[in-house]
Amino acid sequence: MKKYIENVKRYGTCSKDCYGSCVFMGEWNDQAPEKKLLSAKPLKNHPLTNGFFCPKFNHREELLYHPDRLKSALVRSGPKGSNSFKTISLDSALNLISEKLTTVEEKFEPSSIVAAFYAGNSGLISQFSPIRFFGKLGATITTGGICNEAGNHALSQIFGNYSTTNPFQINNPNNKLIVIWGSNLSERNNHAYFLVKKAIKNGSFVVEVNPVKTKLAENATLHLQPFPGSDYLIAKYVMNKILAAEKYDRDFLVQHVDNYKKIFTGVEKIDENKIIHHTGLTCESLDAFIKLLFKYQHKTLFIVGFGPQKYFYGGKNLITIALIQVLLGNFGKPGTGFIFSQSGFSKEFTYSLMNYITLPHLYPPSNNIPLVTLGSSLNSNKFKMLFVYNLNAASSLPNQTILRKSLSREDLYLVVLDMFLNETTKFADIVIPAKFDLESNDFITPYFTPGISINQGGPCPYSDCLSNFEFFQLLAKKYGWEDNKLFQETQEEIFEKCIELLPTEVQQSLKLNGYYIPFRINDVLYEDLNFPTFNGKIQIQSSDLELFDPNLDFLLHRRQNEFYLLSPAHKYFIHSQMGEIHKEFENVFGKIFLNPYDIELIKLKPNEEVLVSNKYSEAKFILDQNNTLKPGTALIFSGLPFVNAEYENVNFFTPEKPEESELSGAYFSVTVKISKI
Ligand code: SF4
Repeated sequence: MKKYIENVKRYGTCSKDCYGSCVFMGEWNDQAPEKKLLSAKPLKNHPLTNGFFCPKFNHREELLYHPDRLKSALVRSGPKGSNSFKTISLDSALNLISEKLTTVEEKFEPSSIVAAFYAGNSGLISQFSPIRFFGKLGATITTGGICNEAGNHALSQIFGNYSTTNPFQINNPNNKLIVIWGSNLSERNNHAYFLVKKAIKNGSFVVEVNPVKTKLAENATLHLQPFPGSDYLIAKYVMNKILAAEKYDRDFLVQHVDNYKKIFTGVEKIDENKIIHHTGLTCESLDAFIKLLFKYQHKTLFIVGFGPQKYFYGGKNLITIALIQVLLGNFGKPGTGFIFSQSGFSKEFTYSLMNYITLPHLYPPSNNIPLVTLGSSLNSNKFKMLFVYNLNAASSLPNQTILRKSLSREDLYLVVLDMFLNETTKFADIVIPAKFDLESNDFITPYFTPGISINQGGPCPYSDCLSNFEFFQLLAKKYGWEDNKLFQETQEEIFEKCIELLPTEVQQSLKLNGYYIPFRINDVLYEDLNFPTFNGKIQIQSSDLELFDPNLDFLLHRRQNEFYLLSPAHKYFIHSQMGEIHKEFENVFGKIFLNPYDIELIKLKPNEEVLVSNKYSEAKFILDQNNTLKPGTALIFSGLPFVNAEYENVNFFTPEKPEESELSGAYFSVTVKISKI
């Protein structure tokens, strides 16, 4: 008689570098020879997931067993840059890597070995457990990131935490106005878009501030379409008018803001003509915005995207936007606040997990290099070996000319862990087939929903595919560290140990629901206006207001025939990863988009091949029109996720110089010239 085997249900969280961190229930047939994940159903009762995935990733079961998925280790068989490999056994690959490690360590410093990683899989164990290996080795580790780190850092300086607001306040009945600044919610944050549409239905008004007219503008009361990077000038104009009309919240400022008078001094004098010229806005539209802010004071919420901080002075740009809410006293009241990233709320309970996952007390502090400047750091002959995981560096890091030159060095041995071949594997000496996020136990700390959620890993049908931890554990054994306690546990044991480190309430919620949110949907955070700074007050430093100094010019300037270059991700793709399920949109990466007005102005035609150039690079693109763009602005989609693509990556045009905190990239601080070929 045929034995009946029940399918297994496991909680999962999408670990992609995305606002959603969607939580779902996976149904698995563990006995199936290959297609073990049968379905993934987004949770209806999760307050952000709300029962749906985004179009980028609604077929993850297809991707898991995609024919192009890497299933064996590969060794390079052609020149660097060619993605030519032959298959080898996992054991041979580990031997080769271990031998190379020994040679490099003997001939050079251990610090000449580099680990570069990011949030391609944002699982805490996936991202950070390899630090056990590199810490013991004394290797160099990348720090910071490429995304929101500058903004987090800047907001922490003034509020003591970059997270200050419960995102579910979007739907608080007290809210009457939502300002969505620099965030294309309908394409990049579908779940917040869903909440905002619900708020609109319930009577909230929306103002959008964005150089691109997004889908949200259809439902917005007002759309301000400034030139990229001019956010702080808008903020200055708005604050000047708040001051002039004496609409600031004096009690809030006196009681809860240190040095608030510095804001007054910074904005009391403005050059209106300059602001109008550089923002590309009209006084009428700015005044209409201000009127709404006055009307709905103490009923206004700001949602700010990562775009405004992707400039050389990005952190300050973000602070100046936040200061509008500070002046108006829009904190600690229902339906108000400032939403940027909520992961700051999780730090309290993830601290012990991170400590356990990385065990930093067992080895001396490591050498660091900023991730964003990886290209020029590797240019130095000091570095001889590079491991890349959870990152498609040759697609998503800026200034690809420098980076690829470095990755092409014959004396730099590159090991890449990934699920598919991509732009980075092109330069690899060894490629290790990686497990998908759902195939390992892990924790995710989302950045739009506060809290933590889990992946209960299901089985992987391919025996050579490894999680990052499993790979470095095997490598440690090859390297002679088989008895070291850093590498004794399995990933499941690390996961279980971490669960035990969490407060009981969190443990229970993770087991029962798959996720934990540290407060209730209706809670107003910092209601007592006691912020986590040294004295409980919002801190204003003179340096926060440097952008207001009339003698300093932080603006990005463009010359004739030049355009500000925006490089957002496409709505069907996660940055630089997993293009395999949306191949039909591949051609979009070969295009540069302009407003039809600009196309006419520079006397070119849509579908014409043009030369795009700036001081970093030049390449051919197909010109196309997009009337959602502000004239003067060009757009090339970022994150080319395909292997051997025919198109040039937009990051050949972006600057390696990071945001001033050196914590993340200044991708939008750039202009390009477009000319006829
Ligand atoms: S990519 Fe983002 S929105 Fe889409 S399923 Fe994953 S977490 Fe959800």
